[in-house]
Amino acid sequence: MKDAEAVTFGGNKLDRAAHLRGDLAPLLADPSARAVVMWQGKPLIDLEGGPTIAWVELSSPILKEATAAPIFLGLDGTAPRFGVDVSAWEDPKADREEMAKFLDTSENQHPDAPDRWKFIELRTLMAELGHEDGSIIATARAIQSWHDIHPFCAKCGAKSDVAMGGWQRDCPACGASHFPRTDPVIIALVTHGNSVLMGRSPQWPENFFSLLAGFMEPGETVEAATRREVFEEAGVRLGDVQYLSSQPWPFPSSLMMGMQAEALSTEITIDENEIAEAKWVTREELMAAQAGENPELLPARKGAIARFLIDRWLADSLD
Ligand SMILES: [Zn+2]
Repeated sequence: MKDAEAVTFGGNKLDRAAHLRGDLAPLLADPSARAVVMWQGKPLIDLEGGPTIAWVELSSPILKEATAAPIFLGLDGTAPRFGVDVSAWEDPKADREEMAKFLDTSENQHPDAPDRWKFIELRTLMAELGHEDGSIIATARAIQSWHDIHPFCAKCGAKSDVAMGGWQRDCPACGASHFPRTDPVIIALVTHGNSVLMGRSPQWPENFFSLLAGFMEPGETVEAATRREVFEEAGVRLGDVQYLSSQPWPFPSSLMMGMQAEALSTEITIDENEIAEAKWVTREELMAAQAGENPELLPARKGAIARFLIDRWLADSLD
């Protein structure tokens, strides 16, 4: 697929400069160094002139509540770029009820930040953020989540230490090294003539349908995982399966593998443990949904790979 890397969270232009990860001191001392700041999973965003990363100087008081050493994200030209987690900061005005929702629309104002800088949930920004900023935030969020979830050695259970600029954890007790994980998920654009197969998870809003998706299992190719997931969830057998595009999905650490397949049958038998509903949707119904004119179908969100693939299928531009 020609524009496969045009997905949201794709196209990270930073030079990851992995050879510099072993010694952060000169990078941290560089006056051009800046950090993207995360608080409880929400990036600090500059709202002036459209959402962009609020790049913070390393001497800023905003960073005084940093919970761990900065993560070295790479170089922008020669300027070092870091990710810093300040989740220890307490926001007395935080709307905790809103923050607990799937789509947290609240904003958080740090007292040391200018008014135009807010902590904002990444999912609410996906459609507006530039690709480069989105991909940098996605990288920072995914790796910080990994540290949050993996503080202990998976081999012996001792507390492990951050190493290599945040791209590794070393165990002082048994000497094992651990590396950030990425969990591959297949997401399938299954078509039959003029229709595409869509499903709804039990926890999703009514009428919200998307492409079928599921985690890959050990020992599977992406094609085999696609066949298994679609058959398990909807009872539909697939013919040819092809890879189209992938998307880093930092909630917390997935890699969505966008696949295309032609269905060999149309009868649907759902697995009620996995999905609430599945159905075939025509191009016309989908186009009406995306124009806001189909109350029975809410379209997949802009920024998600499901929408990216559906838009290209509708436009006949999957190649
Ligand atoms: Zn260990």
